[in-house]
Amino acid sequence: MIGLEENKKPKVLLLAGGVGGAKAAEGLAQLQGDYDFSILGNIADDQAFHGLWVSPDIDTLTYSLANLIDREQGWGLSGESHRVLAQLEKLGAETWMSLGDLDFATHIYRTQARNEGISASDIAQTIAQRLGVNIPILLPTNDVVQTQVETDKGWLSFQEYFVKEACQPKVNAIRFQDIEQATPTTEALDAIAKADVIVFAPSNPVVSISPILNTPGIRAAIMQSDARKVAISPFIAGKTVKGPADKMMASAGVDEGLLGVAQLYQGLIHDLVIDNQDASSISTLKGMGYQVQVTNTLMRTLHDKQVLMGQVVNFSLSQTKFIEADCMQVAG
Ligand code: GDP
Repeated sequence: MIGLEENKKPKVLLLAGGVGGAKAAEGLAQLQGDYDFSILGNIADDQAFHGLWVSPDIDTLTYSLANLIDREQGWGLSGESHRVLAQLEKLGAETWMSLGDLDFATHIYRTQARNEGISASDIAQTIAQRLGVNIPILLPTNDVVQTQVETDKGWLSFQEYFVKEACQPKVNAIRFQDIEQATPTTEALDAIAKADVIVFAPSNPVVSISPILNTPGIRAAIMQSDARKVAISPFIAGKTVKGPADKMMASAGVDEGLLGVAQLYQGLIHDLVIDNQDASSISTLKGMGYQVQVTNTLMRTLHDKQVLMGQVVNFSLSQTKFIEADCMQVAG
């Protein structure tokens, strides 16, 4: 493989949020024999509930890769009960954030470790390993950064907007509280620098991928990395598969749908993977400087996830070959 040392597995780094990120992660996990794979997750959805620190996107990644996820919901643990939440409700606590009894153990463990001064990265890694996940789940920062959504009801935390308000209020603006002061983790910077391919999962570009990119140092590291960079669109025929990304693109100053994704990532990534249903956008995207792959991007089954992620990585690696061959021709 041109550009890669022989007998060395290509290093693939996945930038991922929750549900869409976890689907991509599960697909790549199936290909672990071919690639050396790690994940850079999103911590800006984190929030304290009942005195416990909850990290929804990281837990969704961990539970999915551990095959413990509630497959119908796409989040939380399977076979959950909610007795603790029911008891908290009796006591008068606000219980709109659905936390299962077994899930509470994760949050208790995380909070205890935080109180002992252990970094968020080390905690995430330990939880993942103890639940049987051997893929590194890296964090962009060990500092607290929190997404806030400005609506007609004022500024809401991301979980208030997403869960309590069920994404109903109109989104006027989005900010990532305290991101300017955040320090990137050395693990994240190192993984970006060493990656052969960086894949942006079909996660919400505004509230899952942007907080990773906007962590000081991360975007610059991605720009400087020699990796081939590719994104999978979270939009299919103008609609999200799940979640409010469509209602948020305007707050990021871009168009809705696929075009907005292309605008947000322009200059940062090389390749875009879009759904068959969006094939009519190819020439626009090529005009924006992207190499485009068109395929089925809806991941329903584990097989779908594996097939798509194999196509994505192979496409990007083949583009590397293409570019190097092209350069050699020019030079010759
Ligand atoms: P969240 O943090 O739990 O909201 O999850 P993410 O940000 O990782 O993912 C949400 C995005 O994933 C949504 O915009 C969906 O459109 C997208 N998504 C979910 N499943 C699929 C899928 O099978 N294919 C594609 N292309 N996008 C998906």
